[in-house]
Amino acid sequence: MSERTKSRVTVDLSGRAALVTGAGRGLGRAIAQSLAAAGAKVACVDIDADALAETVQTIENDGAQAEALTCDVTDSERVNEVVRQVVKQMGRLDILVNNAGITRDGIFMRMSDDQWDAVLAINLRGTFLFTRAVARPMVKARGGRIINVASVSGLMGNPGQANYSASKAGVIGLTRTVARELASRNITVNAVAPGFIATEMTAKLGEEVLSQVRGQIPLGRLGEPQDVADAVLYLASDAAGFITGHVLTIDGGLTA
Ligand code: NAP
Repeated sequence: MSERTKSRVTVDLSGRAALVTGAGRGLGRAIAQSLAAAGAKVACVDIDADALAETVQTIENDGAQAEALTCDVTDSERVNEVVRQVVKQMGRLDILVNNAGITRDGIFMRMSDDQWDAVLAINLRGTFLFTRAVARPMVKARGGRIINVASVSGLMGNPGQANYSASKAGVIGLTRTVARELASRNITVNAVAPGFIATEMTAKLGEEVLSQVRGQIPLGRLGEPQDVADAVLYLASDAAGFITGHVLTIDGGLTA
């Protein structure tokens, strides 16, 4: 099957402003492209300036609007500065997608402090920092959508991923609590939990592992970045206004 790069979800986000972290490649790029194609102005955030420039160029080539902001999601001061800058330039911030994430896999008994700290810092602290930074402008505007990219590893154990699994379970806990805290301000907070999606992150696993993985997925294939982007588009849309604190698995039935 050839990879889809266009959404099949029809959503109108014109006039909205969105911020996507980890937008330099993979799922973040597909999400940023889809939000922009739906009419939103998208602030693309990533640690890698060259990758970001490519994402923005692709979006602009499609006739949509985006801007690049280089930022390490673990840097509290820079995160606050980026959010302030986006609100100032775009005049609003309606949608946040916390997507930046890494893996540093290894068997638990041999896991180093650095492996643990790096994954928790980017996946969980980064999500906390951006969520806290956007909460103020969203509360002021009395509305917003926050979508966190978790993982099925946050719902079930996965040998070799103690750090990653703990970080994504943390993202799910954060999602549910912040959903309750911000609901009275009409801000919804949800998570998507992808299974195995074809990106550079999963390519690292190698073809042998991936073919075993395919055998465990009821739908018999890896997901495409667009499968995740489509779910994010829906959660960002007005149609999802009564959904909050939810975790949507996008895994071809892996956890069914
Ligand atoms: P990816 O291809 O590795 O892309 C991740 C992006 O995040 C990269 O552009 C990376 O930049 C950026 N990033 C890393 N550290 C950062 C930091 N400190 N600050 C800002 N940006 C940073 O990964 P992906 O597969 O698209 O995954 C995206 C999200 O989906 C992650 O949260 C991941 O855990 C989750 N997820 C993925 C899958 C899957 O099967 N692919 C499944 C479940 C969940 P660099 O290139 O410079 O590192």
